[in-house]
Amino acid sequence: MNYSVEDILNEFKNRIRLSDFLAKYVNVEKKGNSYVCRCPFHNEKTPSFSINNEKGLFYCFGCGIGGNVLTFLTKYNNISFSEALSDIAKLLGIQLKKKLKILGAKKLRDFLNSQNYLIVILKGILLIEKM
Ligand SMILES: [Zn+2]
Repeated sequence: MNYSVEDILNEFKNRIRLSDFLAKYVNVEKKGNSYVCRCPFHNEKTPSFSINNEKGLFYCFGCGIGGNVLTFLTKYNNISFSEALSDIAKLLGIQLKKKLKILGAKKLRDFLNSQNYLIVILKGILLIEKM
Protein backbone atom coordinates (compact mmCIF):
# COMPACT_ATOMS: atom_id res chain seq x y z
CA MET A 1 0.00 0.00 0.00
CA ASN A 2 1.16 3.52 -0.76
CA TYR A 3 1.04 5.97 2.10
CA SER A 4 0.54 9.68 1.69
CA VAL A 5 1.61 12.26 4.26
CA GLU A 6 -1.99 12.41 5.43
CA ASP A 7 -2.13 8.63 5.86
CA ILE A 8 1.00 8.71 7.97
CA LEU A 9 -0.36 11.50 10.16
CA ASN A 10 -3.62 9.60 10.61
CA GLU A 11 -1.78 6.40 11.41
CA PHE A 12 0.32 8.27 13.95
CA LYS A 13 -2.78 9.83 15.53
CA ASN A 14 -4.50 6.44 15.76
CA ARG A 15 -1.56 4.64 17.29
CA ILE A 16 0.47 7.12 19.31
CA ARG A 17 -0.70 9.85 21.64
CA LEU A 18 1.05 13.07 20.72
CA SER A 19 1.59 13.87 24.41
CA ASP A 20 3.39 10.52 24.89
CA PHE A 21 5.56 11.16 21.87
CA LEU A 22 6.42 14.73 22.86
CA ALA A 23 7.26 13.57 26.40
CA LYS A 24 10.50 12.25 24.89
CA TYR A 25 11.50 15.84 24.15
CA VAL A 26 9.70 18.03 26.67
CA ASN A 27 8.31 17.79 30.17
CA VAL A 28 4.61 17.06 29.58
CA GLU A 29 2.14 17.68 32.41
CA LYS A 30 -1.49 16.65 32.59
CA LYS A 31 -3.77 19.57 33.28
CA GLY A 32 -7.41 18.63 33.55
CA ASN A 33 -8.26 16.83 30.33
CA SER A 34 -5.44 18.34 28.38
CA TYR A 35 -1.69 18.15 28.29
CA VAL A 36 0.67 21.08 28.54
CA CYS A 37 4.37 21.74 28.75
CA ARG A 38 6.80 24.62 28.72
CA CYS A 39 7.37 25.60 25.11
CA PRO A 40 10.71 24.40 23.73
CA PHE A 41 10.63 27.17 21.11
CA HIS A 42 10.54 30.20 23.38
CA ASN A 43 11.58 30.99 26.94
CA GLU A 44 8.83 30.71 29.52
CA LYS A 45 8.29 29.83 33.16
CA THR A 46 4.68 28.67 33.04
CA PRO A 47 3.49 26.16 30.42
CA SER A 48 1.58 27.69 27.52
CA PHE A 49 2.31 24.91 25.04
CA SER A 50 -0.82 22.79 24.79
CA ILE A 51 -1.18 19.34 23.22
CA ASN A 52 -4.38 18.02 21.67
CA ASN A 53 -4.17 14.22 21.44
CA GLU A 54 -7.49 13.85 19.64
CA LYS A 55 -6.40 16.06 16.78
CA GLY A 56 -2.72 15.21 17.02
CA LEU A 57 -1.88 18.91 17.16
CA PHE A 58 -0.02 21.26 19.44
CA TYR A 59 -0.20 25.00 19.90
CA CYS A 60 1.80 27.46 21.94
CA PHE A 61 -0.21 30.40 23.26
CA GLY A 62 3.05 32.15 24.09
CA CYS A 63 4.75 32.34 20.72
CA GLY A 64 2.00 31.12 18.40
CA ILE A 65 3.87 28.12 17.07
CA GLY A 66 1.68 25.15 16.30
CA GLY A 67 1.25 22.10 14.12
CA ASN A 68 1.48 18.34 14.07
CA VAL A 69 4.20 15.86 14.98
CA LEU A 70 6.06 16.60 11.73
CA THR A 71 6.05 20.34 12.40
CA PHE A 72 7.41 19.64 15.87
CA LEU A 73 10.23 17.39 14.65
CA THR A 74 11.36 19.72 11.86
CA LYS A 75 11.56 22.64 14.28
CA TYR A 76 12.88 20.80 17.32
CA ASN A 77 15.52 18.73 15.56
CA ASN A 78 16.12 21.29 12.81
CA ILE A 79 15.57 18.69 10.08
CA SER A 80 13.74 18.79 6.77
CA PHE A 81 10.10 17.84 6.35
CA SER A 82 10.98 14.65 4.47
CA GLU A 83 13.45 13.62 7.18
CA ALA A 84 10.78 14.10 9.82
CA LEU A 85 8.32 12.16 7.68
CA SER A 86 10.71 9.26 7.26
CA ASP A 87 11.46 9.24 11.02
CA ILE A 88 7.76 8.92 11.79
CA ALA A 89 7.20 6.34 9.06
CA LYS A 90 10.06 4.30 10.52
CA LEU A 91 8.58 4.61 13.99
CA LEU A 92 5.25 3.30 12.67
CA GLY A 93 6.88 0.60 10.58
CA ILE A 94 5.55 2.13 7.36
CA GLN A 95 7.40 2.04 4.09
CA LEU A 96 7.31 5.34 2.28
CA LYS A 97 6.24 5.86 -1.33
CA LYS A 98 9.78 6.72 -2.38
CA LYS A 99 11.01 3.23 -1.55
CA LEU A 100 8.02 1.66 -3.32
CA LYS A 101 8.81 3.70 -6.41
CA ILE A 102 12.35 2.34 -6.49
CA LEU A 103 10.99 -1.18 -6.22
CA GLY A 104 8.62 -0.32 -9.05
CA ALA A 105 11.47 0.91 -11.24
CA LYS A 106 13.46 -2.25 -10.63
CA LYS A 107 10.48 -4.42 -11.53
CA LEU A 108 9.94 -2.42 -14.71
CA ARG A 109 13.60 -2.82 -15.65
CA ASP A 110 13.48 -6.58 -15.04
CA PHE A 111 10.32 -6.83 -17.12
CA LEU A 112 11.78 -4.81 -19.99
CA ASN A 113 15.02 -6.82 -19.87
CA SER A 114 13.04 -10.02 -20.18
CA GLN A 115 11.27 -8.56 -23.24
CA ASN A 116 14.60 -7.86 -24.96
CA TYR A 117 14.59 -4.16 -24.43
CA LEU A 118 17.86 -2.38 -23.97
CA ILE A 119 17.81 0.03 -21.06
CA VAL A 120 20.32 2.80 -20.81
CA ILE A 121 20.34 5.52 -18.22
CA LEU A 122 22.15 8.51 -19.65
CA LYS A 123 22.60 11.58 -17.44
CA GLY A 124 19.54 10.63 -15.46
CA ILE A 125 17.41 10.07 -18.55
CA LEU A 126 16.00 6.62 -19.13
CA LEU A 127 16.39 5.39 -22.68
CA ILE A 128 14.55 2.27 -23.73
CA GLU A 129 15.26 0.57 -27.02
CA LYS A 130 13.86 -2.61 -28.52
CA MET A 131 16.65 -5.04 -29.43
ZN1 LIG B 1 6.19 29.01 22.42
